[in-house]
Amino acid sequence: MLITNGTLITWEEPNRILEHQAVYISNAHIEEIGPQEELLRKYPQVERLDAEGQYVMPGNICAHTHFYGAFARGLAIPGRAPKDFPEILSKLWWPLDKSLTLEDVSASAQVMLIDAIKHGTTTLIDHHASPNAIDGSLDVIAEAVDRSGLRAVLCYEVTDRDGEAKARAGINENVRFIGRSLHERIADGRVAATFGLHASLTLSESTLEKCRQAVPEGVGFHIHVAEHEVDEYDSLGKSGMRVVDRLDHHGILRPNTIVAHAVHVDSVEIALLSENGIWVTHQPRSNMNNGVGAAEVESMMRAGVKVCLGTDGFSHTMWEEWKTAYLLQKIWHHDPRRMSASDVARMGIYNNACLSGKFFQDAILGKLLPGALADIILVDYHPYTSLTEANLPWHIVFGFHESMVTTTMVAGKVLMKDRQLLQLDEEDITARARSLAPGVWQRYKAQFD
Ligand SMILES: [Zn+2]
Repeated sequence: MLITNGTLITWEEPNRILEHQAVYISNAHIEEIGPQEELLRKYPQVERLDAEGQYVMPGNICAHTHFYGAFARGLAIPGRAPKDFPEILSKLWWPLDKSLTLEDVSASAQVMLIDAIKHGTTTLIDHHASPNAIDGSLDVIAEAVDRSGLRAVLCYEVTDRDGEAKARAGINENVRFIGRSLHERIADGRVAATFGLHASLTLSESTLEKCRQAVPEGVGFHIHVAEHEVDEYDSLGKSGMRVVDRLDHHGILRPNTIVAHAVHVDSVEIALLSENGIWVTHQPRSNMNNGVGAAEVESMMRAGVKVCLGTDGFSHTMWEEWKTAYLLQKIWHHDPRRMSASDVARMGIYNNACLSGKFFQDAILGKLLPGALADIILVDYHPYTSLTEANLPWHIVFGFHESMVTTTMVAGKVLMKDRQLLQLDEEDITARARSLAPGVWQRYKAQFD
């Protein structure tokens, strides 16, 4: 396939914006980028995708999400509103994830994946929980990802909150699915695996030890860390150590380990994350919604921590997350100089691309260049001031909207063209989710009776 008549944003380092250039795609990869006239002569027979003056850029990447959370939309929490994050967990997320069957898990993933395709997010790192449907849950999600055509990294969150047997089942689900991903190209290599842990506050010393023993060589963990201060208090109570120190003590800070949030870590924990090369993901919309505070992501980046950007399942609109990341630090610190848009791009583009590539045999993701995977979006944005490599991050923060994404492609396959989904039937999938929702909500509400 040849993409013509677009303006390319390559997101190389340094970034380049290229006019009158075409992109030649073959075997799921970008083969060649060059002057359009030259490539049209070189590949006269190949199928063409006319970008019609739009921007052609790599698909967005989400470094931390929860496909299982879709049925929370519109759900009324019984009784008084949760007063803090621990109550949000105990009144919303934990009874909700216990209400999911494998069929619900599949439907929840499917609607989330449609949201991602429509809004130009092509790779997602998911963190799954369904305590009453653990075995095989990652296969069900992998199948949904396969059908969607997107790219994803999956794991199951191990926790002690539902007893020892379910903690063991969670460990087994991770180990089994990681094994499957090592022996099989799941979804033509578009699905990878990592080892999920809920959070220090729901993991005992012995379960952390079992996870360390169970994790295969070369695989990291994906865990929530210090999202609320209670995680730190709990860790100090259990071990006398702060959360990151405790995880380090248990061998959790491995290559490719992802730490979500890190809102309440101290400077020594930041140093430990940096020394161990740990990936931290920032989810400002979720943090604001839960009232947990703002992660010191600028300080973390100055200390050498690789900070990425996720959505926590808030919707797969990465530029919305960019905007929130950009604004949050300014109000939090009462200083408009905080969090430049280029720092947001560092997280949302460069660090996300580097992290996600690790799960796909060091593939090049998130860049338009020969050899990179052909995960590409077309964006119908018409700037009325000059758009340059230097000011692009600010154009994105102030001018880009996910509704401008008209075409989404993954591994060279077009999943949405001119805003029409080509692989999935949205009406059908949302109707199925709506038909399952009353059952999920009923099982959720029954836990309060
Ligand atoms: Zn999360």
